[in-house]
Amino acid sequence: MIEFAYADEGQQWFEDVFAHHLEEARSRAFALIDEGVVADTGCIETPTIGARKVRFKGRQMPAYRFIFCILNQMVAGYEDVVRHRCDNRCCINPDHLELGSRGENLQDEREFDANGVDFTLL
Ligand SMILES: [Zn+2]
Repeated sequence: MIEFAYADEGQQWFEDVFAHHLEEARSRAFALIDEGVVADTGCIETPTIGARKVRFKGRQMPAYRFIFCILNQMVAGYEDVVRHRCDNRCCINPDHLELGSRGENLQDEREFDANGVDFTLL
């Protein structure tokens, strides 16, 4: 059996952006953060209902995913989720975000439901 190890479409998109459009992508990410409102928790919230979307180079995704991956130059594919350590889906503060798997994301949600968020850890 042959294993295919091709990057998925999302990964290829990030690799292309990092290689050819990094400065433009970074300015867009910083502009989105500038538009945000800083909450007491340190969260930077977009003034939208639900997670803000961003469109860049033919792809649309939640702003938090775009900001996190661009500023950390991290390639995220279909299986990768950007997790909110603060459990606030409108938050785009890169310090509150981290990359994980879908399984870890579900685990986060159960833990937040059970224990809430400890903002002193962020
Ligand atoms: Zn936050």
